[in-house]
Amino acid sequence: RIVYVNGAYLPEEEAKISIFDRGFIFGDGIYEVSAVIGGKLVDCEAHLARLERSCGEIRLALPWSKAELVAIHEELIRRNNLDEGGIYLQVSRGAADRDFPFPKDVQPTLVLFTQARNFVDAPGAKTGIKVVSTPDLRWARRDIKSVNLLAPVLAKQFALESGAQEAWLTEDGVVTEGASSTAWIVKGKTLISRPLSHKVLPGITRKAVLAYLAESGFTFEEREFTLEEALDAEEAFITSATSLVMPVTSIDGHTIHNGAPGPTALRLREIYIDYARKGGVL
Ligand code: PMP
Repeated sequence: RIVYVNGAYLPEEEAKISIFDRGFIFGDGIYEVSAVIGGKLVDCEAHLARLERSCGEIRLALPWSKAELVAIHEELIRRNNLDEGGIYLQVSRGAADRDFPFPKDVQPTLVLFTQARNFVDAPGAKTGIKVVSTPDLRWARRDIKSVNLLAPVLAKQFALESGAQEAWLTEDGVVTEGASSTAWIVKGKTLISRPLSHKVLPGITRKAVLAYLAESGFTFEEREFTLEEALDAEEAFITSATSLVMPVTSIDGHTIHNGAPGPTALRLREIYIDYARKGGVL
């Protein structure tokens, strides 16, 4: 695999960053994950807009333009001959002797790599995935896509050990979001997902699904829902750049939609895949 690090395209074994990198020492960095489907980047502009916003919120000035960042993505797709998979981008405040405040005259570190994966033919798309709930232990600015992922790591490990594929994080009985996805439930023709705030990451896939609602004949009710309500839902699903739209068929061992993917989730997945194949529009 050819990866990108600070201006260079290198075989992954040769790519190196400093042990003093603030991403490593403090988690002082931001990341993004975009999908490639059929060799095309999906909603790259929207992911980069979110990257710029996240960096702005932590006062990390990005020395690269959006166009330069898109070009790096495209070059990695080309060099790795990537047809389907994810592209991970991480920017940190750079490497400097360890001290909490921002270092002076330090260049941010930029790393990108690809991960070839089957997103469209993911096994969960046919069977649905299992979800378990766990308390949301994250910080108060989850709208910033920071590289501090210890709480999601623990939640995902709990999910794995529970035989599930995703964790739904809860706070005062309310589902905030998935450990790495937006959480949705369905009532009739209505899709329910919580409003954006500092408590959740503003999902790009969420935005794309909403942009297509009118066309698909569904309505959107933007509100919080409790875990209890989710256990009783007609359908449930998650969205993210890498899971696309993924039906949920079990929550905490309670079967959803008789344990089979629901028609709403499957229809939205189909619409989203068509949209993604064109590279998205956001
Ligand atoms: N919430 C969290 C906590 C996430 O990590 C992700 C994945 N980036 C999402 C939601 C979904 O965001 P997106 O649709 O932009 O991938």
